[in-house]
Amino acid sequence: MLDIRWIRENAALVQEAAVRKKLNVSVAELLEWDERRRKLLQEGEDLRRQRNEGSRKVAEAAKAEDNRLAEQLKMSLKPVNGRLDRLTEELGEAEDQFNRLMLLVPNVPSPDTPPGNDDSDNVELRRVGKLPVWDFDPIDHVELGIMHQMIDIPRGVKVAGSRSYYLKGPGLLLHRAVQQLALDLLLEAGFTPLEVPLLVRGEQMTNTGFFPTGKEQAYSVDDEEIWLAGTSEVPLIAYYGDEIVDATVPVKLAAVSTCFRNEVGSAGRDVRGLYRVHQFSKVEMVIICAPDPALSDSLHQEITGYAEKLLSLLELPYRVMAVCAGDMSQKTYKQYDIETWMPSREAYGETHSSSNLHSFQARRSNIRCRDAEGRLVFCHTLNNTAVASPRILIPLLENHQREDGSIHIPEALRKYLGGREVLVPGS
Ligand code: AMP
Repeated sequence: MLDIRWIRENAALVQEAAVRKKLNVSVAELLEWDERRRKLLQEGEDLRRQRNEGSRKVAEAAKAEDNRLAEQLKMSLKPVNGRLDRLTEELGEAEDQFNRLMLLVPNVPSPDTPPGNDDSDNVELRRVGKLPVWDFDPIDHVELGIMHQMIDIPRGVKVAGSRSYYLKGPGLLLHRAVQQLALDLLLEAGFTPLEVPLLVRGEQMTNTGFFPTGKEQAYSVDDEEIWLAGTSEVPLIAYYGDEIVDATVPVKLAAVSTCFRNEVGSAGRDVRGLYRVHQFSKVEMVIICAPDPALSDSLHQEITGYAEKLLSLLELPYRVMAVCAGDMSQKTYKQYDIETWMPSREAYGETHSSSNLHSFQARRSNIRCRDAEGRLVFCHTLNNTAVASPRILIPLLENHQREDGSIHIPEALRKYLGGREVLVPGS
């Protein structure tokens, strides 16, 4: 959420951001309701002052036993009270409309965000690692998964419907190994790990910026009272909702959690294999810091670096993309996506998403800290994927396959896999 005073002064910029982010909100309409609400508030104050003044005079007349005057004064207050009653109703409507529209207003992307429409307009910043070259025909992760009896999609679909899967034997072990590697990396970097609630109140989805615009992506439980979190970013940020945090040093939180996504609108896209599923696991990092743009920018580089470190440890080639405005969510100020090479797609595929939200999410969640003068200010918040699995298994299995179907285990993962250097089918 943006500061309404800032929106008033930057209406054109905010409207342009809404258009770029494809959000259906009229800033002019918001400002009309804002003005109406403020006028009504002012009128209410004036009327209450009149009523108090009138009541005081009525009391004086009654004290002086001037009943006629008291009665006259009471009569003269009737229209004031009547207007106040109507005004309360009108103000309620204005506040409702104002709040509804405020929840749709986007964060304005950083000045260096590419001004594009969709992911094809994202700008490549760097490529790291060499693409594999084989003198045999490589196979994809689905076939490798069958060969190693580690991925079972047909039974996933039988039990849970489309975009479902089982991970089995070495599949589960790899899935857990990448998560533990990512978590260990974050622990070393000073993140506090949390086990988080994944059934969260709708209010927290709104406060963290996932509702109302992303509501169709979430699964509801208990008649929309409670929702399944699509990412642990929700409970991690909500942990400090309505609190004043000590942000002298940035607060670094991490969670390992299951994520649930409806994936509405992705029919027909990424249907093969493990790329786009309804349930996956993610090691997530969240940072809450003082609202200093230079500080949050440097933390943004830092958390992007942890994802890059993880990919280097997994010995995978990747590229870093500056995400364009049209491909950003409502709440994002600046975003990098990291895409890892996926041989079966003959393309890089998104595996990590690193965002700086500035104070947009903290304002909505009411997370504040004190500035150098002791004043309360809204913090900045950031988040990034440390690793998301099973999607990461796609590049991991496909890039590290060998001609005989065995799979090279990167050195950094071996300690989580009993020292194994290679996965051999049937072993
Ligand atoms: P997000 O939380 O949407 O920024 O996504 C972070 C990462 O989670 C993505 O880069 C993917 O690696 C992974 N991810 C997101 N959605 C899905 C999905 N439906 N299926 C599998 N992995 C996903």
